[in-house]
Formats: sequence, structure tokens, C-alpha cells
Amino acid sequence: MITPAILQSLQTIVGSEYVSTSTDIIAENSQDALRQVFPAEAVVFPRTAEEIAAILKLANEHKFYVTARGGGVGYVGSAVPIQGGIVLATSRMNQILEIRKDDLLAVVEPAVTNYDLQQAVEAQGLFYPPDPSSWKESFIGGNIALNAGGPRCVKYGNTRQFVLGLDFVTPTGEIITAGGRTPKNATGFNLSGLMIGSEGMLGIITRAILRLLPLPEARRTALAIFATAQDACNCVAGFTEAGILPVALELLDRVSINAIEDYEPSGMPRHAGALLILEVDGLREAVTREAEIMRELCQKHHAIEYREAANDADADNLWEVRRKMSPAVKKTGAVKINHDIVIPRSRIPEMLAFLEGVSARYGYRIPTFGHAGDGNLHTNIMLPNNEPETKQIAAQAVREIFQKTVDLGGTLSGEHGIGYAKAPFLDLALTKPTIALMQTIKHALDPNGILNPGKVLEPAIAAEEMNFLTSDFPCC
Ligand SMILES: Cc1cc2nc3c(=O)[nH]c(=O)nc-3n(C[C@H](O)[C@H](O)[C@H](O)COP(=O)(O)OP(=O)(O)OC[C@H]3O[C@@H](n4cnc5c(N)ncnc54)[C@H](O)[C@@H]3O)c2cc1C
Repeated sequence: MITPAILQSLQTIVGSEYVSTSTDIIAENSQDALRQVFPAEAVVFPRTAEEIAAILKLANEHKFYVTARGGGVGYVGSAVPIQGGIVLATSRMNQILEIRKDDLLAVVEPAVTNYDLQQAVEAQGLFYPPDPSSWKESFIGGNIALNAGGPRCVKYGNTRQFVLGLDFVTPTGEIITAGGRTPKNATGFNLSGLMIGSEGMLGIITRAILRLLPLPEARRTALAIFATAQDACNCVAGFTEAGILPVALELLDRVSINAIEDYEPSGMPRHAGALLILEVDGLREAVTREAEIMRELCQKHHAIEYREAANDADADNLWEVRRKMSPAVKKTGAVKINHDIVIPRSRIPEMLAFLEGVSARYGYRIPTFGHAGDGNLHTNIMLPNNEPETKQIAAQAVREIFQKTVDLGGTLSGEHGIGYAKAPFLDLALTKPTIALMQTIKHALDPNGILNPGKVLEPAIAAEEMNFLTSDFPCC
């Protein structure tokens, strides 16, 4: 319970204009992309690590909950204060502090958007590969706390691969400096690693040192259509034997292709089993050769159509097919359940066949698309409404899909995290001792359980109670 005395102390720490109890500010900061509101009691906007440390000390003294917030566009409710308390909005901590071409690194505050960082480093001939579709809204702090990814992660890896060091404040208010400015670091435990993907439960990130790469000189993009998902997946596997690693290998299944044709026909055969958008990048000469190999591979694996971009504008047009997924999906049902399962990529055809079965049994369309190169599929279960009975049935369908995912050697999330939305299913993917070890770590760092309660390890909301997205909200 946030008492007037606590509000007064918060104002003393950050300044009275940076503590808000306005209904609008609270509503805005008490939901994420899931659009289910759990109101905070106040929203606090600190500017420094020292202010955050003081807030967390106060929270431990008075036992109120604190939930950190970045851009607020997560898909699993992880930034939502489902048990009340305060939202600690990081939005004022938005400076790019350094970009070093010689050391290939950037130092940023947590509220720098992924987009702003990419623009700033590219202006200097540098490259920050993690590319969530939410890049214009999501913050680097949120990306790190959820280990965000995107199409380019096939080649370059998720956010985790690009964090060299972090400053963070522990739940009890200690300021920690972990990692550093060097790509190699074997000094003590990897505490930055512990923070990556910790969903704001183990500390609040106040500064990040990020690894950069030289900006690739060239890229080539193509779109290939296959009669079967198996052909498309064989093609994906063929790249390994050919010795090249594409920057993106995006797959759209038959339901997605048909959703696009229903929405805005672009001449794609409705009987096609899958479509791939493929991209290679690197030195110009190498990319020319890799583009040839890419075409040969698609032909070898029986592509029934192959469209190659001649220039950047063409490439953008090919990516437009992928971007159409969001409005096209809207047309296939009133509300959607969007999950980002990840499976070994060799099992994708089995998963797609299984999803067709679930769709037939439950009568819901399930357009599925995503990052075939790393097995990260976005399944969109399209429901007729958000009524309790529908939710009950949908929760069962979700459980079946997660169970199959785990049976195929995969897991519940490749990039969105667990939050509260997937917490009821965590025990499908992790063993009891594994969950117990995570709880031990959480308790050691946060003995009073003040930081982001009700997430990941503590299912607070039953699967049947989840709100689902109304389909006017974009998907990734
Ligand atoms: C249209 C759309 C497309 C998307 N596409 C992708 C995609 O391609 N790939 C992908 O990975 N995700 C995608 N997402 C999901 C989401 O945008 C990402 O997970 C993103 O990383 C969330 O960042 P955020 O700043 O909005 O974090 P928030 O939602 O604000 O917070 C997420 C979590 O991080 C914690 N947190 C935030 N800041 C800090 C901090 N400074 N210190 C500690 N913890 C913190 C919060 O407590 C919370 O647990 C998409 C979402 C939408 C709506």
C-alpha cells in the first residue's frame, strides 16, 4: 500500500514532478502490448541509478512492490504491476553516452530505443544487430531484460550476444557494475548474464555497454515459395551444408499465405505450403556469391517461385509481404493469442502439421510465421471473442501447443519472455529443481519479494483468465 508518507518520500528522492498518481499516467503505465490493465498506485520517473537505489531501499523498508518499465510493448505482461505498488518508469534515462568505433562498443542508458541506437551507430558505419519489430518503441533496457531478438538473430544472435557489461541496482538497493568494455572477460561470475532475460525480477538496469560490429557493406534479399513446408525447411537446412549463414530466413506457413491473399492479393499460390524471405549480408563480392548459392538452394529444394530483389527498393517490397502479416492476421479472427514458441528448426514441418491438426480440432485459424533459421515461430491462435468459455477452450489449445513444443525439444519463448502470460505453463518446459534454483536466486537477491512480483516463477493469473489481444493490435 502506497501511503501519503511513502509518496512524500518518493517525491523527495526524484522531485515532486516525477511522481504521478494521475489516472491517465497510471493507466498508460499499467499495461503492455497484451492490453490487460492492472493499475499501479503511483508511477515514478527516476533519472539516476542513485535515485533508483534510494527507491528500492524505501520499498524494502515499507514493503511495497516495484515494477520496472521500459517501452511497455512486451507481449507477456512482464512490465505490468499485477500486484499493485509503483511502476518505476525508466523513460527519462534515455541518453546514448558513448559510441566507440575503435573499441566497437556503445554505452547507453536503459531508455534509449533500439531504433535510435541503430540509427546512431549506423551513421558511424557500425552495426547493432538485434532487431525486434518493436524497435521504434522498445527500449534497450526492456530488450536486455527479455533477451529480445528479431529476423537478424539467425546470423547474429539475440540481445544476449551483444551485452558486454551492465550497471544495475539490486532489489535491495545496491549499485552493481558487472562485465566491462572488453569482448573477453573471465573475471568472476557473469552477473550481466544473470540480468539478461531476468524480466526485471533481479535488478534494474541503469547503463549498458553493448558490443557493435562493422556495418555490412551489402545485402541481397529474395522471396521463395515452396509447395510444402518440408521443402522450405530442407532449403533452410541446405544453407548449413553450403557453408553460408543468411542474416534472415523468415517463414510464412500456408495459413499465413492465404491470410495475405485474402487481405491483399499478391499472386501467391494458395496451395503453397510455405514461403521464405531470405537475406544475406557482408562484403559485396561475398554477398554476390552467396546470393547465387541462395538461388541454387531454393531451386534444388523445388521452389515453385523465386523473386530476387535487384536493389534496396525491391528488397523493401519483398519485406512488405512479411509486414502485411499484421493487418492480414486481423482479418482472420476477432482476437488473437500470440506466442513465440521455439523448436529445433529440423522439427518445424512436424510443428506446422501439428498446428493444422489443432486448428481443425478447435475450429480456430492459426496463422504461423517467424524466424525459420532459428526455429522461433509466432503462432497466432485466432478466436471469435474474448468470452470466458472461449478462454477456457483456448487455454487448452495453448497447453497442447506448448506441450508439443517441449516434446519436439523446444521451449516456450524464443524472445518475448514468460511474464505472467506464460507463467502457468513454465513447468512444462523446466524441471522442478531448475525452477527451484531460479527461486533460490530470486530470494537471495530479493528477500522481501518487492521487485516485479507475480511473474515467471510465480503464476499469479490462471491461463483461462488471460486477456487476449484484440486483433486491431499489430503482431510481430
Ligand atoms: C508490434 C510488436 C512487435 C514485436 N516484435 C518483437 C520482436 O520482433 N522480437 C522480440 O523479441 N520482441 C518483440 N516484441 C515484444 C517486445 O517489444 C520486446 O519484448 C521488447 O524487448 C520489450 O521492450 P520494452 O522496452 O517495451 O520492455 P517492457 O515491456 O517495458 O518491459 C519488459 C520487461 O523488462 C523489464 N525492464 C524494462 N526495463 C528494465 C530495466 N531498465 N531494468 C530491468 N528490467 C527492465 C520490465 O520489468 C519487464 O519485465 C514485439 C512487440 C510488439 C508490440
